[in-house]
Amino acid sequence: MKNKKKQNRRHSRNREFLVVTYSFLALFLCLCGYICYFIAYQSSNFITSSYNKRSSALSATTIRGDILSADGVVLATSTVDENEEETRVYPTGELFSHVVGYYYNGRSGLEKDANYLLLDSHEDYLEQFQYTLQGKKVQGDSVVTTLDAKMQQIAYDDMGNYNAAVIALDPKTGAILTMLSKPYFDPNTLQENWEDIVNDASSSRLINRTTQGLYAPGSTFKIVTALAYLRQGGSMDDGFTCSGSKEVNGLTFHCFNGTAHGSMDLRKAFAKSCNVTFGTIGMGLDLDEYHKTAEDLLFNQDLPVQMSVYNQSSFDVDHNTASDLVFQTAFGQGHTLVTPLHMSMIAAAIANDGVLMKPYLIDHSQNMQGIEVKTFRPERAKSLMTTEEAEQLQELMRGVITSGTGTALNSDLYEAYGKTGTAEFNAYKEEAHSWFVGYATNGEKELAIAVIVEEADRSSSMSIPVVKDIFDYYFAD
Ligand SMILES: [Zn+2]
Repeated sequence: MKNKKKQNRRHSRNREFLVVTYSFLALFLCLCGYICYFIAYQSSNFITSSYNKRSSALSATTIRGDILSADGVVLATSTVDENEEETRVYPTGELFSHVVGYYYNGRSGLEKDANYLLLDSHEDYLEQFQYTLQGKKVQGDSVVTTLDAKMQQIAYDDMGNYNAAVIALDPKTGAILTMLSKPYFDPNTLQENWEDIVNDASSSRLINRTTQGLYAPGSTFKIVTALAYLRQGGSMDDGFTCSGSKEVNGLTFHCFNGTAHGSMDLRKAFAKSCNVTFGTIGMGLDLDEYHKTAEDLLFNQDLPVQMSVYNQSSFDVDHNTASDLVFQTAFGQGHTLVTPLHMSMIAAAIANDGVLMKPYLIDHSQNMQGIEVKTFRPERAKSLMTTEEAEQLQELMRGVITSGTGTALNSDLYEAYGKTGTAEFNAYKEEAHSWFVGYATNGEKELAIAVIVEEADRSSSMSIPVVKDIFDYYFAD
């Protein structure tokens, strides 16, 4: 009896012992797992973070690497004096100011997003060891971008003194070739001019207008309305009539210059950018479905992009929206706000038969000898629409160039597709923002583009000439 009691106690003690052992073992394995996970997936984010001290520890031992354009132009580099003090130099000055970014009072652009790659070094281990012994810094890896320096220069020259944004990307890969924002800042003198630039509220110079600028889409939004209409049973052959204006809820809306477009099908309404037709189409839509179509095109959503800083586009029409606001929204006014980056992604998906490739700027990093260290492959983001829907939008956008508001883009070198837009930002002002969203192809390669020129002359499509120059350059060879 006594022995049995003793045995039981021993058994229960053994069990306790095993529970404790296994608990510690489980905790230990969890910890190991977390460390592996952290090293594999989180460490680069952690190092990239501006708040991390390890980043400054790395920069104490590593010379920050160069940032290069795809065609080999040095966009950012570091010089080192005899005391191993580094100075960041931007040989192309303001030309790439927003996309390359800055490295002062925090970081922006590629200086932020490629921070980890620039502070990593894949120099020969022996050399690294020698440098360390001599108390010298090792050379960080270079980052080679997808940017085309010549195309960026064309955009820069054409935009002159306007506040503007130009973004161009390859629809088949998502590679961004041009990302221009004006007004600019010179990253070489940012430190001296910081106070002036930050306090100059009127120009918002530090903002990258391609990724952060939020604008009314103007008539470029007719792309979204057209897709919603086609999805809800509308047809390219449906007939419409325009007398130049229409009254809704006591408000009168006009077509551009009060032009009466007469009777037409959807193709012509799109090519001529008829506000009355698109407003009327909008009022006839199931508004919750309209909302869903906008969200399918990435409105109100995070964008699948390689960049960490950008703004979401917003679309707020649903079954509660008043009909006059629905009418305006359908042709591109109302509350809708978009970024040029997002509009270029919609154009790219249409060009690529509905499939959006993830836009990216970093192609690869390489060590001092030019050996590739980390390569970023093109990545399929998602399908924004069916192939059939994309083909219908392609047909509508082609009509704009052959017989609509974009005839200046007719060329023997390529076939262009697109939609122009004029976005009012102040009804009392003569000027309006000029938009172009579209793409071109020569059967072999394609280029999607979004351009906005702020406060442009209302009577001419100021966004078109830069699109033409970029297409002419890209398809020249
Ligand atoms: Zn009209």
